[in-house]
Amino acid sequence: MATKNSTSKLLQDDFRGEVLNPASPDYDQARQLWNGMIDRRPALIARARDVNDVIQAVNFAQSQGMRVSVRGGGHGVAGTALLDDGLVIDLSGMHEVEVNVDQRSANVGPGATLEQMDAATQAHGLATTGGVDSRTGVAGLTLGGGMGWLGRSFGLSIDNLLSLDVVTADGELRRASEDENPDLFWALRGGGAGLGVVTNFEFRLHPVGPEVATIQVFHPLERGGEALRFFRDFMADAPDAVGCNAFAMPVPPVEPFPEDQHGKIAIAFVGCHSGPKEIGLGTLQSLADHGEPMLQMVQAVSYCDMQKSFNEATPDGARYYWKSQYLQDLSDAAIDSLIAALDTPFPGPFSAVAIESLGGAIGRVKPEATAFPHRSAPFNFGIWAGWEHAADDEQAIAWTRGIYEAMLPHSTGGVYANYLDRDDQDRMQAAFGANRERLEKIRKDHDPLRLFA
Ligand SMILES: Cc1cc2nc3c(=O)[nH]c(=O)nc-3n(C[C@H](O)[C@H](O)[C@H](O)COP(=O)(O)OP(=O)(O)OC[C@H]3O[C@@H](n4cnc5c(N)ncnc54)[C@H](O)[C@@H]3O)c2cc1C
Repeated sequence: MATKNSTSKLLQDDFRGEVLNPASPDYDQARQLWNGMIDRRPALIARARDVNDVIQAVNFAQSQGMRVSVRGGGHGVAGTALLDDGLVIDLSGMHEVEVNVDQRSANVGPGATLEQMDAATQAHGLATTGGVDSRTGVAGLTLGGGMGWLGRSFGLSIDNLLSLDVVTADGELRRASEDENPDLFWALRGGGAGLGVVTNFEFRLHPVGPEVATIQVFHPLERGGEALRFFRDFMADAPDAVGCNAFAMPVPPVEPFPEDQHGKIAIAFVGCHSGPKEIGLGTLQSLADHGEPMLQMVQAVSYCDMQKSFNEATPDGARYYWKSQYLQDLSDAAIDSLIAALDTPFPGPFSAVAIESLGGAIGRVKPEATAFPHRSAPFNFGIWAGWEHAADDEQAIAWTRGIYEAMLPHSTGGVYANYLDRDDQDRMQAAFGANRERLEKIRKDHDPLRLFA
């Protein structure tokens, strides 16, 4: 029987990148993910340099009967970028971004982070929808949908895809677009993880920035319910250019936040306006002016900096547990349930509860047009527990589940695939709804032996 060392040698012969096995000095570092709760031990980690490496790795796994997982930016909370005993194809070295200014499009490598994509596109005053933390991988974020500040303006990340290149389980490189392999194109937009290895994302770009109007408003929790009602009414009439989320989160222990509020839970509104900044500043000011916030800042900031505004809130390697559900609406009853549930102490400094605004261009796409079905929900609701010590695991998980259950009566029943945690993996029906059957068929057609984990 081949040993792990000889098996990795076998792959190394056809592979330009690096292949690590448990005896390699870099192995432990290479299996670290953003979520420090994940501790998986792959048999091999193949760090691909190019498409040919990806094809070699897929063919190798087929020949050895090994299962495969794919690592993009490593920010998936469930840790599905890694698997025990199988082969991980690590794409983090393939992060090139090529902008076509005339066509307003970009080809983005599967290892690129949002920060790398934004830097390249903003050099030309262009952008496409990404998430709210710029360290996140473009690949995983896009394959599950992709919600961010620009979503109401331009749709989800998947709504801006022109094409994808994907190596399927048979080792073939395929182009997926409206005209080529349209079934695969449909499935990769929202149901993408586990269908193959995407080696290129071609996005449509839009003029944005380089400076955009931004808002940060913090209200004390005592007045949080009233603030949230105003936020709901504001977002109901807001132009699509406004991307703004509400959070329950600890007040950061830094200036300009009032010192006596540091660490206390507040209701915050954070967001930006994708249009001309003079117009954006005026629009956002009317949200900031309401009530008596402890802090309100409406200012023009570079779009790239806006994209980084949450980066420090969730450091790499801390412990995380998430649950989420789409809300039918932010009714008075939902707000009251939330405020009551926030009574339980937050489990750690990296914890937050988020109400992410949807609607606008996201809601104008038909639920069956892509594998992502949740087009009519006005808000996504996430409970993001983040803490430092394993001893607090139980309390943190219980806190997350408690708030989740308190909000269940207000849920659509759906869940965002990108926010599924390890113990949510049986919720595929909730993630894909009426699209699930078609998605599973396409998955079976392209990967009948379930090579991809
Ligand atoms: C701090 C933080 C903030 C976030 N904010 C947002 C947000 O604002 N909006 C939002 O929509 N989501 C957000 N997310 C969720 C994020 O979209 C998902 O966690 C996403 O899966 C991360 O992608 P990744 O490439 O970094 O992760 P990975 O863990 O590398 O990958 C996630 C999944 O995608 C698969 N995958 C990755 N690359 C490929 C590829 N090239 N081909 C095939 N499969 C692949 C992996 O196998 C895995 O199953 C956030 C996550 C974090 C941790």
